[in-house]
Parts: sequence; C-alpha cells; structure tokens
Amino acid sequence: MRPLVVDAPTAALAGSGPRPVVPVAPAGRRLAGADAAFAAIEEAGPTAVVLARPAGSAPGAEHLGALARLLRVPCVRVPADVNAAAWVLAAACHPEFGDDDLVRRLEVLAGVAVAGGTGLPALRPRVLARWAGCVWRPCGRCSAGGGLRGAACGRCGASAMGVAA
Ligand SMILES: [Zn+2]
Repeated sequence: MRPLVVDAPTAALAGSGPRPVVPVAPAGRRLAGADAAFAAIEEAGPTAVVLARPAGSAPGAEHLGALARLLRVPCVRVPADVNAAAWVLAAACHPEFGDDDLVRRLEVLAGVAVAGGTGLPALRPRVLARWAGCVWRPCGRCSAGGGLRGAACGRCGASAMGVAA
C-alpha cells in the first residue's frame, strides 16, 4: 500500500493499520524542521502521499507541504485541527481503504473533516471509502486537484474549489 507521510502528533492519534505511515520526527530528535520533513518523505519512497496540516498547526507543518510540492509528491491538505486530521489518516489506514484513487479519496475525506468539524460521520470504513471515490469533483482553479463539492480543494486550498480562495 502507498505510504502516507504526516506530522507526528497526527500520526500518534490515528493509531495503526495495514497502510504504512511515516511520521515526521518531532523537534529535538536527530533531525528537525525541513530536514525531518525531507527525511520522512524520502523514507516513504516514490509512491508516498503527504498529508499536510496548515503552516503553524504542527511542528514542521510548513516544511511538509512545501517539500512535497518541490519533490512532486502528491500532497493533500488536511485540517489544522489534529483530531480532524487524525480522522482522515485513520480512515485511510483502514484495511477497506485501498490505493485506487487514493489521492482523490483523501481530498474528499479532508473536505469532510473540515466541513464536519467534531461531528464527523460515523460511516463504516467500507462505505466511507466507496463513497469518497464517487463524490470527488475537480477543482476549478488548479484543475489537477479537487475534493468534496462545496469544500476547499484538497490540493491548492481554493475555497469552494475555484470560487475566490
Ligand atoms: Zn485546487
């Protein structure tokens, strides 16, 4: 399965599943900041997908998104709230959540997590995974990204996908 790269606090909350998760080493470890984010993306390998919270919401979060774009690694914007971000990660780590259309389905989940706040839907993982694959819509601004209709683009962050960011 394609590995996911995410900040350490989000990874710690999400638990584990069959999908490999590479957390960015917290500050104070051997590497810090951009070096730690780079090492995590490198460790995850060429099929990695980065889940990036907004700059300032997690240690090194600003480096993770910027490096992913620089290294041409798919990067999905997840909510600043660590619980909402962990919900996206946990759903993607469930055995029912395969690699088909992984990035698009992550973009939808990120939109659900933002829109749902703390009242996230308690759908079964199999249902959630299938649904996320069906409702993805392309973004009117960046064209490559997209997500949930009415939510921000999972790739470029355009609000309501193309309507005034
Ligand atoms: Zn976009």
